[in-house]
Amino acid sequence: MSQPRYYFPGDRRKADLDFANLGFDYTPCPYRFEAVFQHGVWRVRGLVEDTDMRIPEGSQCLHYGQELFEGMKVHSGPDGRVYAFRPLENARRLNQGARYLCGPEVPEELFVRGIEEVAAANLPYIPPHGSGAALYVRPFYLGIGHNVGVKPAKRYVFRIFVTPVGPYFKGGFGPDQGKDFMVSRLDRAAPQGSGYVKAGGNYACSFTPGQEAKDGGFVEALYLDPREHRYIEEIGAANFLGFRDGVLITPKSQSVLRSITRISLLEIASTSFGWSTEERKIALDELGELESAACCGTAAVISWISRIADADREWLFDFDERWQRLYDSLIDIQTGRGEDPYGWRHEIPV
Ligand SMILES: *Cc1c(COP(=O)(O)O)cnc(C)c1O
Repeated sequence: MSQPRYYFPGDRRKADLDFANLGFDYTPCPYRFEAVFQHGVWRVRGLVEDTDMRIPEGSQCLHYGQELFEGMKVHSGPDGRVYAFRPLENARRLNQGARYLCGPEVPEELFVRGIEEVAAANLPYIPPHGSGAALYVRPFYLGIGHNVGVKPAKRYVFRIFVTPVGPYFKGGFGPDQGKDFMVSRLDRAAPQGSGYVKAGGNYACSFTPGQEAKDGGFVEALYLDPREHRYIEEIGAANFLGFRDGVLITPKSQSVLRSITRISLLEIASTSFGWSTEERKIALDELGELESAACCGTAAVISWISRIADADREWLFDFDERWQRLYDSLIDIQTGRGEDPYGWRHEIPV
């Protein structure tokens, strides 16, 4: 059967892709959504086709990192309905970043409508239910203009592109999929800095620690708190979770990014399963007391941790059924496979 080579917005035919075998890679889709801010107002450009952007060479996003991004997934339900997961939370987090970077907020309604439009327009690229893949949605925000001084921009671009993705870590989730992480001696964020903001600059600075971990045969770097280097902070671009004495614990720190996946998992744990949860400092020295450990985020959902290595010591962990239960519950909600008792699914009209 010959496949269509072009798509109209909202076309219902599926793209000619091997959805079940996608990695976490960029596949260009036909449409992206764009809005521009100038003279105090956001003007919606709507759906645009060009993958490339043309911006002034002096733009603040290029020189001073005045950039923010978000990440979320859109899934097809068993009945062909299409769902985003808690997009308002992403809008609020982006706007917290916009305030920190001294730029205008993106109206929540514009943010959510942009996601709806771009997802619906790229319907052929939304992986079918049960393929294990999802449509990754990447909203981002750029300060632009003819500028040279270190100061916030006057003009901004808000764009959302989408791309179909498979599991973040090859192999996905399962008892044989434990991951190894290396304690980094470098920091990703300052104690009173921008760690809680999803601003581009925080991530360029994580390349060296991430590379050191990979060179050592690990999946990613585990960061310690930047003030004392005693407490666990985050793992790569994922939040840390552990079980101690039956309590689901996660680090409390102002330099940790507020993961929407983590907040959702803690809610499922306490409300659906009746487990105790606690947000508190977790010392590296405490790792030996944990029953199991994991990290979480939109891309990986949950990955359980098999090993954490520091310069002269290491901690080993086993698979824990409780991670599987949390993983399944969240996926059930996100993919429309199960009930949505929390009202987290946002149906996209297609
Ligand atoms: C995006 C991100 C996460 C995960 O957040 P989610 O909202 O769950 O996707 C965790 N840590 C860092 C540093 C991140 O950038």
